[in-house]
Amino acid sequence: MSRLGHLLTPIRTALAPFQADAPLAARFRARQIQAVLRLTPLTMLANVLNASIVGLSFRNELNPLLLVAWALCVLYAAGTGIDAWLRWRRFRTPTTASPGALSRATKHAALLAILWGIVPVLMMPLGGPEARIMLTAIITGMICAGGFALATIPTAALTYVAILGLAAFIGLLRIDIPMATELSSLLLVYALIVMGSVLSHARTFGARLMAEAEGERQRQLLGLLLNDFEENASDWLWETDADGCLTHVSARMASVFGRKAQSLMGQPLLGLIAHTLDRVPEDERRAYTELRSRFDSGQAFRDALVPVVLDNETRWWSITAKPLCDSAGAVTGWRGVGTDVTQSLAAQREVQRMAHFDGLTGLANRNHFHDALSRIEDSTEVPALLLCLDLDNFKSINDSFGHAFGDGLLRVVAQRLLGRTRRSDVVARLGGDEFAIIRWGEVSPEEAEELATRIIRSFEDPCEVDGIRVRIGTSVGIAMAPKDGHSGEQLLKNADIALYAAKFDGKGRFRFFDYEMDTRARRRLFLEHELRGALTRGEFQLAYQPIFDLDSGHISGCEALLRWHHPRLGLIDTQECIAVAEESGQIESIGEWVLDAAIRDAAGWPAPIRVSVNLSLAQFIKPSLCDTILALLDAHGLPAGRLELELTESIFLRDTTDTEGHLRALRGAGIRVALDDFGTGYSSLAYLRTLPLDRIKIDRAFVQAITHHPETAAIVRAIIAMAQALRMDTCAEGVEDIAQLNALHAEGCHTVQGFALAEPMAASALSAFLAGHVSIPALSSRRRSPTERQTGSPH
Ligand code: C2E
Ligand code: CA
Ligand code: CA
Repeated sequence: MSRLGHLLTPIRTALAPFQADAPLAARFRARQIQAVLRLTPLTMLANVLNASIVGLSFRNELNPLLLVAWALCVLYAAGTGIDAWLRWRRFRTPTTASPGALSRATKHAALLAILWGIVPVLMMPLGGPEARIMLTAIITGMICAGGFALATIPTAALTYVAILGLAAFIGLLRIDIPMATELSSLLLVYALIVMGSVLSHARTFGARLMAEAEGERQRQLLGLLLNDFEENASDWLWETDADGCLTHVSARMASVFGRKAQSLMGQPLLGLIAHTLDRVPEDERRAYTELRSRFDSGQAFRDALVPVVLDNETRWWSITAKPLCDSAGAVTGWRGVGTDVTQSLAAQREVQRMAHFDGLTGLANRNHFHDALSRIEDSTEVPALLLCLDLDNFKSINDSFGHAFGDGLLRVVAQRLLGRTRRSDVVARLGGDEFAIIRWGEVSPEEAEELATRIIRSFEDPCEVDGIRVRIGTSVGIAMAPKDGHSGEQLLKNADIALYAAKFDGKGRFRFFDYEMDTRARRRLFLEHELRGALTRGEFQLAYQPIFDLDSGHISGCEALLRWHHPRLGLIDTQECIAVAEESGQIESIGEWVLDAAIRDAAGWPAPIRVSVNLSLAQFIKPSLCDTILALLDAHGLPAGRLELELTESIFLRDTTDTEGHLRALRGAGIRVALDDFGTGYSSLAYLRTLPLDRIKIDRAFVQAITHHPETAAIVRAIIAMAQALRMDTCAEGVEDIAQLNALHAEGCHTVQGFALAEPMAASALSAFLAGHVSIPALSSRRRSPTERQTGSPH
């Protein structure tokens, strides 16, 4: 940059704001001119005054004509200044000015400077010492006063000071006094200082103009935004006076209230909100008191929630407000925003609820349950009772009636559980058909037992869903802290083990946890795992136990019984194996294998010996069952009449219509159906009357008590009599000695089955047995161990 360029930099920076974009610059120019014109009458008066003094002082030294001409020029210049001032006022202070106006002002300043510059240059050498001093004072004053008066138009001020300063410098140099050079230099320095001050002033003035313009721009923008906000947002703006009465009501606010903005003006905001308070639920009214106290505090606040009833509907508003204060800090009013947050609040509450509650039943969910249970971890000895529940046969019901029905059933179950527990208990659904109950505090085993019994009994009445009545039961596992677990996790695990045991014992029971169960539970898990591959590995076999006709003494059929030979554990207890298969959902595939093998084997037996196959509920409810069986009978060439299916009373858990339909289909195809383990389950005689059955199998428990319990003998007699009346066959199971056999014979029982006559045996052994057998054999005196019985060695 050139040296001149360097010198001009401060001037350029000072002038920068005045070179802003066109509309802004026009406004800036107007402000510049206005600032100068405001002082114009005064400065022009000073000009006239000074001119008069100069004229009077030099009237003898200078040609009067010249002097008058000069004075007239000054007067003319002052006049044009005044004229500009008058015009300016007449136009009521224009807000914009053209660049021409600015350059006219500069020219006017230059003219004045030249007129006054003549004075030192021409008159200084002429006057006496007093006149010179006076002249120096006037010119110095004119330089300073003019410079500052014109400061807002820097070009004018600089031109003016430069011309006049230079003229004074020359004038002082021209006089013949000892310190003329020093004096003139001093004046030049002053002039330069004035010019510097002008530039600095111009810079501040420019900065102020820019700041004002920015402020204005922001105000306009804010106004625009607010308008836009009021038109589009769901929020509404309001303003009140110090008494809380509305002084500004936005259109949106009026529409929210369903009233005209005008009718809301002057109304107290809090009063409008409180108006509907009596229709708001009692526990929610506190929100209003809180809102009022926040206004009373005089402090700004955010998002105060308050309920309002509009159109008979409770809406929630969020109010944000800020006090408006005067310069002394006193509150002169409030300004704020209201937002309808009903929807987001509802969503928020729903999310919160969902995080803790089960969507289907409304009970506590797994998360909530685990949170509660973790209290046991937090402190060392929190006494608590934990009940784990699992619905019996829920899976089959869900499968046969559909998921919607299952959901409905779970809701009924939840209601029953809530009805049998205390408000302070945690009743949770852990998922599927698993539930849990926590009761805090010291609970005695008797109280725990009482609660478990109450819950199990609550399911004695059938549950009704969509007009369909089904029976469902529940098994309960009980664990107590700190006895059965010091951590929530351990307590839950042990209650689960107890539940498992309860289910294994037979459904609809409860069990307390004991440490032996743990080992059994581990075994079950292991078995479940091992069972998965057992079918493909060929670990299953069937054993057959002959059933004897008491009248003829011949074998009328054989019951097929599943045997699982585990490669390492050996023969697994059949009941345990079936329970694991049922619970792990493997019974259907295993059951199909049993049917296939039993039908195939029976096809090789001499007619009319039948084969009896046990069916689990899950198999029975499959709609395809009948077709599958018929296909198997067809494939192996066994007449349908030589197959008997054994079902337990669990089929009564389902409602009768479906069960009846299934039974009729099977019997219609010629397949026989027997009711197994009669007397151990629900023993509903009413069902017996309506359901088409061929045979009742009297449970082993009755048979074994028949010889030494006269009441049992009476029950067996009644069962046989009833079966006869309903034209059903009877079969007594588990006959272990001749006395039992004789007693059953005497009561009129048709068929028998038991170790006394024949134990279950392998298919190959059975063929030999059937070939050699003629009639009921002599009783064996030797008792054999259970393992020996299960291996099915020939009798
Ligand atoms: P269940 O249907 O009541 O079968 C009779 C059970 O009594 C058999 O037990 C049999 O070995 C046993 N038993 C027979 N005579 C006597 C006796 O004189 N005294 C005693 N104490 N017991 C006798 P097992 O084979 O252990 O079968 C147990 C249960 O497992 C069966 O009871 C049946 O409910 C079930 N089960 C067996 N095989 C199958 C199958 O293929 N499918 C299904 N779903 N369940 C089966
Ligand atoms: Ca059976
Ligand atoms: Ca049985």
